[in-house]
Formats: sequence, C-alpha cells, structure tokens
Amino acid sequence: MRGPGHHATGFISGWIATAILNKQVGIPFFVSILAVPLSWWGGVLPDSGEFFLGFRWVRHRTVTHWVPLWAIILGFGVYGAFPETLVGMCLQSATVGFAGGGLTHLLFDWPNPQGIPFLTPWKRHTLNWWNSGRREIYLITGWALIASIFWAPEINQFSVTAMELQEKTSGLVREFSPEQF
Ligand SMILES: [Zn+2]
Repeated sequence: MRGPGHHATGFISGWIATAILNKQVGIPFFVSILAVPLSWWGGVLPDSGEFFLGFRWVRHRTVTHWVPLWAIILGFGVYGAFPETLVGMCLQSATVGFAGGGLTHLLFDWPNPQGIPFLTPWKRHTLNWWNSGRREIYLITGWALIASIFWAPEINQFSVTAMELQEKTSGLVREFSPEQF
C-alpha cells in the first residue's frame, strides 16, 4: 500500500480502537478518541520512520515493519497495568491506537510481493496477492465498512449475550457436577 492508503486505513483503525476502548474497556469517549490521531500516526510511521532528517537510516520494510515489535506495543496497550486515572486512560488509548495503526500498516503491506518481516526484521513473508498501490480504493472502503461494524449497537448486545451464555454454561456444569450424586 502507498502513502495515502496508509493515511486513510490508519485513521480508520483509530475509530475501531476507539470503539473497543469505549464500548468494551469502558474508557470515556472523549478520552478513547485519542486513539484516532495516534493510530493515524502509527499507520504511516513504518514508512516515514525509515527516514531521519531526510536520510534513510534503515532498509525499506525491515525494522519499522517488523510484526513482533508492533505486537509487543499492542500487548502492552492491552495488558499493561495502566492506573485507572485520566492519565492512565489517556496512555492506554494512545498506546492501543498507536499499535493498532502500525499493525494496520503491516496488514496492508503484507499482500504486496515485497511482504513484511515476521520472525526476524530481515526475513519477509508475502501473500503475493497484488502490487503495492493496487486496489487501494477497495481496501480503504472495505476497511471503513469493517470499522462501522464496531460501532453498531448490536456489538454491545452480542458481548452481553456472550456473557450470559458463559454464565448459563457454567451453571450447567455445576448442575451436572459429580458432587450432586
Ligand atoms: Zn510500508
């Protein structure tokens, strides 16, 4: 994917992150929306971060495109012990948004012949589906449609149903446990 596509998909991912942080984690909307600019930034950083003061300091699609690096940042954003304060919620929203944007960039670079590095920063894998710059309008539109699903009210209903289901099944297990006999 090229620059404009990464800008758009990174921005859209920020809205997915905001929806999850707001609806699932329970961070107030005005705080969780911090994920949007951070995701936008993370979405372009794998390419723009290869340059420092106009000079390329690292080979294209190596360290800055390394999947484990971004996955670790996301893991920290999801599982990190953030204090339940305004600052803590800001930090968590920013980290999740940033990592989500970076991973979005890698996701949309993966189908290009050049691929992205998984195991080491120098060993790349490619899905080899299309050349960079192709099908961008469809990818952006598709990504926006996926993001809109996260904002559908049914998502909340579904998570409640899933919780109820879990309660019911654990109740069943209790009912049929050997202690009963
Ligand atoms: Zn890239």
